Amino acid sequence: MQTQKTALIVYAHQSPVSFNAAARDVAVQALTKQGYKVLVSDLYAMKFKASATEEDIKGDLKNPEHFIYNNEMMVAWQDGRLSDDIAEEQQKLEQAELVIFQFPLYWFSVPAIIKGWIDRVLTQGFAFTLQKMYDNGVFKDKKAILSFTTGGMKSMFTPDGVNGDINVLLWPLQNGVLRFCGFQVLAPQIFWCPAHTPPEGRSAMLEAWSERLNGVFAEKPLSFAPTEYFDLTFQGGFSLRPEVKEKYASEPYGITTAQHLGKPLPPDNQTTAKQS
Ligand SMILES: Cc1cc2nc3c(=O)[nH]c(=O)nc-3n(C[C@H](O)[C@H](O)[C@H](O)COP(=O)(O)OP(=O)(O)OC[C@H]3O[C@@H](n4cnc5c(N)ncnc54)[C@H](O)[C@@H]3O)c2cc1C
Repeated sequence: MQTQKTALIVYAHQSPVSFNAAARDVAVQALTKQGYKVLVSDLYAMKFKASATEEDIKGDLKNPEHFIYNNEMMVAWQDGRLSDDIAEEQQKLEQAELVIFQFPLYWFSVPAIIKGWIDRVLTQGFAFTLQKMYDNGVFKDKKAILSFTTGGMKSMFTPDGVNGDINVLLWPLQNGVLRFCGFQVLAPQIFWCPAHTPPEGRSAMLEAWSERLNGVFAEKPLSFAPTEYFDLTFQGGFSLRPEVKEKYASEPYGITTAQHLGKPLPPDNQTTAKQS
């Protein structure tokens, strides 16, 4: 018998009548229709704690004189002593094949409450180790999508727009968080400026989201530099292997948005999966 698949939506908006709430509802509906069990973490409703503190650990600290969050969290995770709210989110994440982060863009990034979820839930040991990261990451069998609204319009987030290239904005979250933990990162779902879009345009954006979700599990992820490109030793500085550098010397573009090798950035590296 096939077991039911699970999706997790990590959702951050204060208002149930917001466009973000509508995007969340569309995702719940589309995925449920496909037979998925959909879990929603409604972070503001849960009053999810955003700050990473000692209170995230039950029982004695290993080194109370010098509190080091990563180290203490790893030991607490191993001993089953994480606070209940973190343990619950980690259990949801373990079940999920697909994780959607639904949020309004705040200061070119996620709202603090989602950043808190990232800091507190994706802890060392549970979500990554020095051996398990990037291609070898803990969540390599899971997919993740950033689905977000903006206040600014699309042309503002281009290489010649006032806010700069959206690909650059996406890099820290998509590579630094999701890909670091091993996720297959699917193209972001960006709802440009819903507040200044006429109602029919807003409805069309939600329909397109629903349609996309119908085929989401067959989507190709975004491409990142394969981990084997790098010498992952302290001696090698965790840097690109010389033979890879040589291979790219004659290429017109860099490898990724951030591993650009001083060349033009590969276009749409963080927004569009390569079709090859
Ligand atoms: C602290 C902070 C930092 C910010 N930083 C940035 C930034 O760096 N860059 C940037 O671009 N923006 C920024 N913003 C703006 C923010 O990203 C936008 O305000 C937000 O993305 C808009 O999304 P919303 O869901 O809140 O829209 P809403 O205002 O809730 O909705 C937009 C419109 O959609 C309508 N709507 C709701 N449901 C539906 C439905 N089912 N069908 C059709 N229409 C519907 C609503 O009624 C409304 O008219 C920031 C805002 C804050 C507060």
